[in-house]
Parts: sequence; structure tokens; C-alpha cells
Amino acid sequence: MEIKFERFHLQSDLRSPLQGFEKISVPTEVRIDPLTGRRSRIITWTLPPQERFDFSKMVEQSKGCIFCPENVLQKTPQFMKEISAEGRISIGGATGFPNLFPAGTYGSVVVLCLDHFLSLNQLTPEIYEEGLSVSVEIIRRTMIFDPDARYWQVSQNFLLPGGSSILHPHLQVIGDPLPTNEMGWLLDASSSYYERNGTHY
Ligand SMILES: [Zn+2]
Repeated sequence: MEIKFERFHLQSDLRSPLQGFEKISVPTEVRIDPLTGRRSRIITWTLPPQERFDFSKMVEQSKGCIFCPENVLQKTPQFMKEISAEGRISIGGATGFPNLFPAGTYGSVVVLCLDHFLSLNQLTPEIYEEGLSVSVEIIRRTMIFDPDARYWQVSQNFLLPGGSSILHPHLQVIGDPLPTNEMGWLLDASSSYYERNGTHY
């Protein structure tokens, strides 16, 4: 079956104080996920620009963190020997190790690079290639050790407003015998799709 992408255009009319109370129309687009039917809204406006937050002082104060190259092999946890005899998994500038404060059975951190701080535009495809390669290696080795850990996610929080407590760029790699809500929805929808269409989504 062909996968259809549906979208709807909404429009809000009002008289704007920013334009002498003339009528303006503000569009919103609603997009529907063809697998799950869930809807997302794409807004078309932005708030007035504010001064860019200057991270330089925070970067200076937090330099030499536990993810920096001089500390990462001394101060971060090691994997169980069954998963990694060396304790950690490194490819290029990326290094993976268990999270000291995990939120599940297998919670890992992958430090993406040697640099303590990079702006978004300094994060290159090569950095992610190395980081994701370490993530896949963690998943592969852990699943050999524990095949019940079938549900995995790789995610990243970037900077404090994005929920990251450490500036040094890193990924979270989390594996469990139980799926998250989101994984459960996707798996159920995928099964239904397969039953209806006889093919994988
Ligand atoms: Zn650092």
C-alpha cells in the first residue's frame, strides 16, 4: 500500500496591534503521521529575537569536566567485563561507558568528541558517525550478553535549556526489556500495518 502524507492548513484571523489593528491571517499546518495517525502542528511565527545567550563564561568555568579527555578514562564508570573487557568502548574521538545514574537496565553515555564545548554548527557528520558507531557497538555487545534487552533508544540533550546538565557533547544510549510508551505505540502500529497490508511499513 502506498504511504500517504496528509496535511491540513489552518488559519487564524485577527486584527493585529503590531499593524495598526489591520486584519492579518496566521497560518498553522497540521501533519498526520501515516503510521500512527498522531498529529503534529507546525507553527509559522517566531517570538521577537532576543540576545543570543553567551555560553562562554559557563564553558570556561566547567572546562576539565569528567567527559574531558584528561578525565574520561579515570572518572567515568566501566562496563561489566562481559560487555567490554577494556571497560569502555572508543571509536575515533567518541567514548562510551555506563551512566552512573541510569534510568533503566542498560543506560550508557557516549561522549562525542574531545572538545569540551561545540556550537551546533561545529557538530559535523563525522562526529556523529563515530558517536553512533560506538552506540551500535554498545547495543550489539549488550544484546549478546543479554538478549532480553530488545528495546533501545539513542538520544541527545544539547545544552541546559535542552535538559543537559553537562555541556560536553554526549549521547544517551538506553536499553531495556520493556519498551517506552513511544516504542510501544510504534510497534503496535507496525504490527497492525503488517496485518492489514502484508508488508512492513
Ligand atoms: Zn568536558
